[in-house]
Amino acid sequence: MDFGEARFIRTRTLKQQLLVFKSERKLGFSYKFMKTKAHEFSCCGCSKFGKWRSVSVVDGRVFGKKHPEDDHDDRCEPFPQSEIDALEIDRDMRHSVRETGKRPRDAFSEAVSSITKKFKTSEEQEAVVVRFPSYPEVRRQLIRHRTSQHIPVPNPLDILETLNLIIE
Ligand SMILES: [Zn+2]
Repeated sequence: MDFGEARFIRTRTLKQQLLVFKSERKLGFSYKFMKTKAHEFSCCGCSKFGKWRSVSVVDGRVFGKKHPEDDHDDRCEPFPQSEIDALEIDRDMRHSVRETGKRPRDAFSEAVSSITKKFKTSEEQEAVVVRFPSYPEVRRQLIRHRTSQHIPVPNPLDILETLNLIIE
């Protein structure tokens, strides 16, 4: 059976491969499925309890013999959507730094301002913001992402700052 369009966010290694399935039974919550084979994705929540619960993704759609929300471990709970949204924005931010060599602080400000653009109500924005890391928490990792692919080019503003220091 076809259970609709497959939606992905980035994994820890920043691949667009973490399947997110919006719960239809518990609104505002989603299940996460990690890629285990070419077309197979298994539930992240269940795997913590040693249970294997998988769905298939073919041509960008979710398939399964039974509904993706059936037959999870009793202790497996879907994740709040705001947590998944924060994770998505966080990982997209890391990815953009890695791919473009963007300055970490710029990438962070862009990510934070995208939260207010993406979510309409202040409740939704607030829920994502509280789950989003602070700049000091991600700074080092962003610098690492940046230097892993790009040799940072001196920014004119940085040079000015250095010059000002020398002048002072
Ligand atoms: Zn599960």
